[in-house]
Amino acid sequence: MKITNVTAHALSSPIRPAREHEFLGGTRKILKRDFVLVTVETADGEIGYAPAGASSSAMREYFDGATHRNFVEVIDDVIEPTLEDEVIDDVTAAHDLIDDINIPGFLRSQIISAIDIALHDIIGKRQNAPIYELLLEQSDVTADPDRTLPLYASGGMYMPPEGYAEEAAGLAEYGFEGYKYRPGLGPEEDLRTIRLIREEVGDEMEIMVDAHTWWKMGDKSYSPDQVRELTSKFQDYDVYWVEEPVEPEAHSAYQELREATGTPLAGGESEESPQGLKRLADTGAVDFLQGDVRHHRGFTGCGDVVEHCEGADVTFVPHHFGTHLGLVANAHLVAAAPGSELLEYPVFETSRHPGMYPFPLAEDILESPFDVEGGELTVPDEPGLGVDVNLDVLTEYPYEEGAWTEFHYDEA
Ligand SMILES: [Mg+2]
Repeated sequence: MKITNVTAHALSSPIRPAREHEFLGGTRKILKRDFVLVTVETADGEIGYAPAGASSSAMREYFDGATHRNFVEVIDDVIEPTLEDEVIDDVTAAHDLIDDINIPGFLRSQIISAIDIALHDIIGKRQNAPIYELLLEQSDVTADPDRTLPLYASGGMYMPPEGYAEEAAGLAEYGFEGYKYRPGLGPEEDLRTIRLIREEVGDEMEIMVDAHTWWKMGDKSYSPDQVRELTSKFQDYDVYWVEEPVEPEAHSAYQELREATGTPLAGGESEESPQGLKRLADTGAVDFLQGDVRHHRGFTGCGDVVEHCEGADVTFVPHHFGTHLGLVANAHLVAAAPGSELLEYPVFETSRHPGMYPFPLAEDILESPFDVEGGELTVPDEPGLGVDVNLDVLTEYPYEEGAWTEFHYDEA
């Protein structure tokens, strides 16, 4: 196919008034959520869509700034001229063209992800096949697609322990498989939080703890002893996993913690490449590996990681914190992955259920957002991603300059 156009749009979903969340030693302010929509067009008039990862950590590798606008600039100034008028036989040919450009690792991984997803959307439409079918055809395993995927609710950030318990109870009514939250109130309050949540939800819901907060609290960050003690004590409340309890690049600290506590650990979203995910899996430190088609070279890169997990003592459960377009992309990957079924569903505040904060663009990006009542998502069996992107969002959610979130640390 001949690529004729690559376009990216930065959008913002403002939060007014901005939300302030207090953690031990500081405050986190959330002003908006940003999103980048990438489109690829071919000479035959086909259009593929993709959500871009565009994480600020990847942006910082390349720019002084770290905004979604910067991501769009790279697509416009570097990627579009590279891919325009190229005739490619398959998706990896596009990977190769981008790999030849001098762009730092994580940013390149996220750019390739967006192009990979959009090209899979096009190929699916062209072959009249949903992406999960393309993935099953490409892989060595013979398996039937699993289109009905249980979701766990990912919410809970910096509130009094009672607030987490109340949110979990509100979400339990939706039938979510689990509830994930971000602690960071100090070791004693973190322990009280999980106790209250367990008391509230009984054994109806799994509890996952996203502990990346523990090493992001400035001089209040927990010591290795505190991390070990908490991670161990969480087993009393039957924690399903503890996620990123130590800095993600510290694989050996992960291993030591897993060995010392026996508590199931999760990680991988911060890895810069599929190779990084595989290395983390090989350490044996994580029970759950969290790749993301928006971060780790798309379906091609993540499909490779899924295969790596097969037969190994680790379950692939995608990371996802974004819109329904990213959700459905990760869902296609899981539908084609034997041994995986669970999906992360970020809960944003709506009139229907509690959540972190309002992010209406997360649903408005699709003409028909997913109805997740019942705690499940049914992967569409229409061609490509199988969804219609709502292009009205391009005018309804204009990009707003500036950082989406700010951390303020108390004076020592
Ligand atoms: Mg996480």
